[in-house]
Parts: sequence; structure tokens; C-alpha cells
Amino acid sequence: MKPPKFAYHAPGSVEEAIQLLQSYAGNARILAGGQSLVPLLNFRLLAPQALVDLRKVPGLADIRYSQGKVCIGAMTRQRAAETSPVVAQHLPIMIEALGWVGHLPTRSRGTIGGSIAHADPSAELPMVLLALDGEVCAQGSSGTRVIAADDLFDSVFTTKLAPGEILSEVRMPAMQARAGFAVEEYARRKGDFAIVAVLLQAGLHALGRPAWASALNIVFFGALVLALVNAQQVMHPASPIISSPSSEIRAYFAVLVGLCMLTGWQLARWFQRASA
Ligand SMILES: Cc1cc2nc3c(=O)[nH]c(=O)nc-3n(C[C@H](O)[C@H](O)[C@H](O)COP(=O)(O)OP(=O)(O)OC[C@H]3O[C@@H](n4cnc5c(N)ncnc54)[C@H](O)[C@@H]3O)c2cc1C
Repeated sequence: MKPPKFAYHAPGSVEEAIQLLQSYAGNARILAGGQSLVPLLNFRLLAPQALVDLRKVPGLADIRYSQGKVCIGAMTRQRAAETSPVVAQHLPIMIEALGWVGHLPTRSRGTIGGSIAHADPSAELPMVLLALDGEVCAQGSSGTRVIAADDLFDSVFTTKLAPGEILSEVRMPAMQARAGFAVEEYARRKGDFAIVAVLLQAGLHALGRPAWASALNIVFFGALVLALVNAQQVMHPASPIISSPSSEIRAYFAVLVGLCMLTGWQLARWFQRASA
């Protein structure tokens, strides 16, 4: 299908973009990478009066490290973040998560800010932002405000961003040098949105003795066995938690436990390597 008619604007500054958004009083949409917005338009699930394309706005695609945080401009392409040395050094968990986002062509067009503003509950980047207690900058006519990840997401596909506001920057705390992490997900096909995703991060302050790693292995696997036992109880037909669990719920828990085990296993291996 073709999209409905809309006016198209390509402002040259954030201020101009904000003015344009305000002139449409909530009936305009920001166009970033178009990877989610354009399908919605084509299916006529959205019919904004205008699109405000941010591609020509300078200064929205920088990646820098500042005061313990990695600051990523909203228009940074997902692929640019995935190959950034700054992200590799301070936020390797993001690179791991980006590997699960769509395909190379979608990541080459899709932006970091677009994925977060879109607030798809199956998307990986909002998960990373929430897990790391990140924050975003929202720029509007009355200035810039910082919104913590916990306060950003209102509901499915909705955020606290006002219609005239632009998400200009995403900030995440840099990971500790000695932090282990793992990201695993289950999707129907490679590159699809996650049905279940698990992200784990753990740091060690006083690393050095191999005994640490062994102890952590035991703790992890103990926790995983407990999770498995609990999940079996939940999934059992006579479970008091779910009286008649559907096959979907059982499958969901089974996959969740599997992914927890996989991430736990990867993390345990990281600790073992780090302390060797
Ligand atoms: C085949 C395919 C597979 C995909 N698989 C995955 C996947 O596995 N995981 C995943 O997470 N994503 C996936 N995606 C989505 C992809 O990551 C998108 O890039 C992302 O959801 C939206 O980013 P975008 O830059 O394309 O934003 P757009 O599509 O341009 O915009 C999305 C929404 O966010 C708003 N918006 C964009 N930028 C801003 C901003 N700076 N400030 C305020 N609002 C803004 C827009 O107005 C729009 O409402 C997939 C997409 C495709 C086409």
C-alpha cells in the first residue's frame, strides 16, 4: 500500500524542527531512519499531516564519552553505534544487543533515538536503556529536559515525550572495565523482534582469585536450577499460580528459563576468563 498524503519538511536545525512540529499542533511526526514509521504509514496505521525529517539537522549524530557516560546523538545510525570504538570501549553490552536488532540494512538506516522513541516493547535498545538506568534528552520550545529511562516509557509504543519535543540524545552510564554481560533472545526468525529477550550485567570490584569465578559459577547455576524448578511449577497443569496455563505461557516460560541459563552460562564463563 501507499502512504497517505503528507507534507514533507527537512529542517536545518533543531530549533526549526521544533517550530515545525509545533505549527502542526501534534499532527506531525518526526522522521528518523523510517524503519518503523514508513511501514506504519504504508499500512495506513498512521496519517500525520506532515513529516519532519531530521536527517539534515547537524549535531544529532555524535557519539562521545563524557563524565562516566556514553552520549549518543539520537540520529546516530544503529550500525554506526555498533561499529563505534567509544561504544566498544565503554558500552560493549550495546554492541551485543545491537547484533539482535533487525538486519544490516535496517541497522544502517534505523537510528538509536528512533528505536527508543518508538518504544516497541520487543525492541532491544529500550531494554538496554532501562537495564543500564540510562536517560534521554528531550528538546522542546522551552529548552532541554533530561528524562530517566524509568520515567520515559508510558506504555506500549508511548513515551513521555511531548508532541513538540525531539529526543536529541541518549545517555548511558559507561560499564565498569571489569563487567561481564550477556544478551540472548528468542525470535521466530533471525532478525525478527524478540519474543523473549534476557540481558544480564554483573561487575566484580575485587577480582583476582580463580576461587571467585568458581564461587560465582556455583551461585549462577544454583540460581538457574531454582529458576528451572520454579518455572516447572508454574508450567505444571495443577499449578496454583496459573490454573490452566496455555501452551503459549508454558512455551514462554520454557524459553525464558532457557535464555536465563544461556546468559548465566556466558556470564559465568566471562568470570572464569577474567579471573584466570
Ligand atoms: C525488517 C525489520 C526488522 C526489524 N527488526 C527489529 C528488531 O529485531 N529489533 C528492534 O528493536 N527493531 C527492529 N526493527 C525496527 C528498527 O530498529 C527501527 O530502526 C526502529 O524501531 C526505529 O528507528 P528509526 O530511526 O527507523 O525511526 P523511525 O521509523 O523514523 O521513527 C519511529 C518513531 O519514532 C519517532 N522518532 C524518531 N526519532 C525521533 C526523535 N529523535 N525524537 C522523537 N521521536 C522520534 C518517529 O516519529 C516515529 O514515531 C526492524 C525494522 C525492520 C524494517
